Amino acid sequence: MNELEQLELDVQGMTCDACARHVTKALQQVEGVAEAAVPGWQSGQATVKAAPGVSAEALATAVQAAGYSATVKSRQPLNGPGSQNGGSYDYDLMVIGGGSAGFAAAIKAAELGYRAAIVEAGTMGGTCVNVGCVPSKTLIRAVETAHQAGTHRFHGIHTAPGQIEWPKVIAQKDELVAALRQGKYADVLAGYPDVDYIEGYAKLTGKNGVEINGQSYSPYRILIATGAHPWAPPIEGLAEVGYLDSTAALDLKERPNSMIVLGANAVGLELAQTYARAGTLVTVVELLPRIAPFEDEAISAALAGYLEAEGLRIVTGFQTRRVQKQNGRYQVSGVHQDKELALDGEQLLVATGRRPNTANMGLEESGVKLGRRGEILVDETLRTDNPFVYAAGDVTGQDMFVYVAAYAGGLAAENALNGLSKPLDTSYIPRITFTDPQVASAGLTEAQAREQGYAVKVSELAMSHVPRALAARDTRGLIKLVADTDSDRLLGAHILAPEGGELIQTAVLAIRFSITVSQLRQTMFPYLTNVEGIKLALLGFEKDVALLSCCAG
Ligand SMILES: Cc1cc2nc3c(=O)[nH]c(=O)nc-3n(C[C@H](O)[C@H](O)[C@H](O)COP(=O)(O)OP(=O)(O)OC[C@H]3O[C@@H](n4cnc5c(N)ncnc54)[C@H](O)[C@@H]3O)c2cc1C
Repeated sequence: MNELEQLELDVQGMTCDACARHVTKALQQVEGVAEAAVPGWQSGQATVKAAPGVSAEALATAVQAAGYSATVKSRQPLNGPGSQNGGSYDYDLMVIGGGSAGFAAAIKAAELGYRAAIVEAGTMGGTCVNVGCVPSKTLIRAVETAHQAGTHRFHGIHTAPGQIEWPKVIAQKDELVAALRQGKYADVLAGYPDVDYIEGYAKLTGKNGVEINGQSYSPYRILIATGAHPWAPPIEGLAEVGYLDSTAALDLKERPNSMIVLGANAVGLELAQTYARAGTLVTVVELLPRIAPFEDEAISAALAGYLEAEGLRIVTGFQTRRVQKQNGRYQVSGVHQDKELALDGEQLLVATGRRPNTANMGLEESGVKLGRRGEILVDETLRTDNPFVYAAGDVTGQDMFVYVAAYAGGLAAENALNGLSKPLDTSYIPRITFTDPQVASAGLTEAQAREQGYAVKVSELAMSHVPRALAARDTRGLIKLVADTDSDRLLGAHILAPEGGELIQTAVLAIRFSITVSQLRQTMFPYLTNVEGIKLALLGFEKDVALLSCCAG
């Protein structure tokens, strides 16, 4: 016989003891319900023990027929998570990986009243704080500040070009990383007594077992949040000569005089511009026909122009054949426009993407399916093919951003522990490349929208139309909006602008909540801000923005 499940419901509309009796009775009459109880009408709650086939809709319908409304907020086997039912599990949730996804999941579990453990094989905090977002963004900002001091655009006012003391910048970066790791991870953990931190390398054993340092655990549910590592393509000679990955490039104690950067996506471009602005002669090499290859074409083209104007050399459509080292220098040879081309540099940074950390963890043996690049395959609720195991963050191989990892970690924990099926909505995820100007985008590019069959309308606005940009004497960039002519809904926004990342959230909200172009247009935007550029671009769907007076109407 199938084990009973326990369901917790939120009930609205009860105002007296009789109401509690009516709701109890209504629930008891649903087929498959063994027991139903309302602890008191003031609680607004009901508990049901039922066969696994009883649907949330059937319970909600029965309560509605009695004159109230109800939603199921959790469901799990009666012998479910240990802390609630005195079950025999070591932990309700064992989270493998102590990065952003793992921390968010464990905290969510504790907030829901469960016991969790985080297992971490390396450094607490994972990629973002130690070797990703934090160190890269502080280095970028340090170099940007010095660069702007030397290249401001106000006429007739001159300052000396910015100078960078590279070792000092690296030391300050290390201090910030240590402070944030302590403040945002170690100290936070101390505030959650129901979350244990276990140091060690975790492997799955069987359907729902975990082994760490030779010790076996039986958690109720497992969440894999093991992140990803820098990946290099199989190029002849590359592995033998060695190279920098993003982690090493963020920690060079001395700045090289020249550098070849393989890969022109976010990480490669950010580091390329940072080193170039600090004084390194940088060549960016990309296999695909354009840099920022997954962004809108207009953005890629404009960004390439700005980077080249700063002195970066960009070689796109380059097929790398071989890497060698001669006299301590890197020689990268390949084919470019049907001709052999050889590039030379003191350092070589390979920034060609990241691959999920899934090797040697007993995943496939435990029924967790992997994709072509080793990513864990999950459904939209983040459940793997093994119903005891969920996965979130970079290890799923998609949308490798820290806020996606954290959001997904919390969602996966809730689904796993409360027996829910909340889907992860990826349609509006913002993407930022922290070059200067920054690339910020959300939703579909024009090409994607057309491919998906939308009746597309497009508005493209040069930042030179935005008063804030004119006042700041920095008119680099553009805003491109993509909308559906039929529904008037915004489908995508693509921004290239100084601090462009600060502008994108308006578009994110519009895409997420289906706000139409005309609703957005009828909203006031503050004058002398760059975000006003979004309003101007919205107006650009219908008008020539050159004919507008002040403040975009
Ligand atoms: C240079 C760089 C810059 C970036 N900049 C940004 C940015 O500006 N904004 C942004 O949103 N994102 C950025 N990212 C991406 C972001 O850092 C990641 O998306 C995010 O950190 C992923 O979090 P996660 O929890 O999935 O994995 P991680 O943070 O990688 O955590 C996984 C953890 O699991 C541990 N682990 C692995 N295997 C095991 C095992 N078997 N047992 C126990 N522990 C294990 C690892 O040691 C690691 O600590 C950047 C990444 C890089 C590399």
